[in-house]
Amino acid sequence: MLSAVYDGQWDLQLAERQRPVRSREDDVLLAVRATGICGTDIGILSGAYGAATPGVVLGHEFAAEVVEASPGSRFAKGDRVAVDPTYFCGACAACRSNRPNHCEFKTVSETGVSRDGAFCAYHVTEERFLYPIPDETSFSEAALSEPLSCAMTGTAKLDVRPDSDVVIVGAGTLGLLYAWCISLRGAIGTIAEHSPARRAVAATALPNGWRVVGTIEEATEKSGGMLDIGVDTTAVAIPDLLRRTRPGGALLQIGLRQSDTNIDVGYLADKSISLIGSVDSAYGSFQAAVAAITKRLIPVERLVTHRIPLDGLRDGFSLLGCDLERKRLGRPGDAIKVVVDAFS
Ligand SMILES: [Zn+2]
Ligand SMILES: [Zn+2]
Repeated sequence: MLSAVYDGQWDLQLAERQRPVRSREDDVLLAVRATGICGTDIGILSGAYGAATPGVVLGHEFAAEVVEASPGSRFAKGDRVAVDPTYFCGACAACRSNRPNHCEFKTVSETGVSRDGAFCAYHVTEERFLYPIPDETSFSEAALSEPLSCAMTGTAKLDVRPDSDVVIVGAGTLGLLYAWCISLRGAIGTIAEHSPARRAVAATALPNGWRVVGTIEEATEKSGGMLDIGVDTTAVAIPDLLRRTRPGGALLQIGLRQSDTNIDVGYLADKSISLIGSVDSAYGSFQAAVAAITKRLIPVERLVTHRIPLDGLRDGFSLLGCDLERKRLGRPGDAIKVVVDAFS
């Protein structure tokens, strides 16, 4: 089967790989139906996010159809599922202290990062990572369960109120999913996004009452230049957000990019501001994300701007500003979520 293999910085090979096989009782063989390109994939290829293992098949945001499960399984051939790609053992110190997103075994078991992922036609995973989806939910919608689960995990760390002034930096998939998660908790906010092309697409995918503007300054225009809650998906906006955060406010940093930055820690203390990080999913988030998608509480299909076949994956990365030929990152065009939905 054709597989997208990470072979080092800027090196993505479309190579033939053997179809994986079940080796344990609770393993399920899946036919992959839709896999989204994530900012993390771009971070891996550009070298900004150094957690991936060379030789691994990338792809962690996916939905699939069951091909083969054990006779006693809850799943049977033909079942449609969303797949939680973030491994947790359930038994290590991190898992037992309610931090499964930091499972000690994640570094060798994370799908599409340190273990073969889903930019290929078949995948094997444990039954406990599968979530059924109904026929009315498309595979590409279900493939957004993972990023939505991450956004739900981060949103749960914020005290969102109807009177909160919220600013999100970046109108990519996570920026928009955060807007929806925060709006479900009752607040109306603004997204700041540099790219005019992305602003135009994002404007069609916003929750009611939300706006998308060019800068953080514009985003705070209606609230006296200040905000209560800031979410940075870009890993570069925290200093700017912090200067505008009201006493008692909170900033959430979710951009997976190594970056040193200077902030006024005295202001942080004096104004009782919380600076929070968040990655991957907490217990319960994935199920909540699947429900939000299948019940259409969040119209994730509006975020899917492009569908491509696996053999066009390099072009898919270009659409998101990741130029693998010239080995450089540029601005994304009008793409938000690019989904691979044809495999060979
Ligand atoms: Zn992702
Ligand atoms: Zn664990």
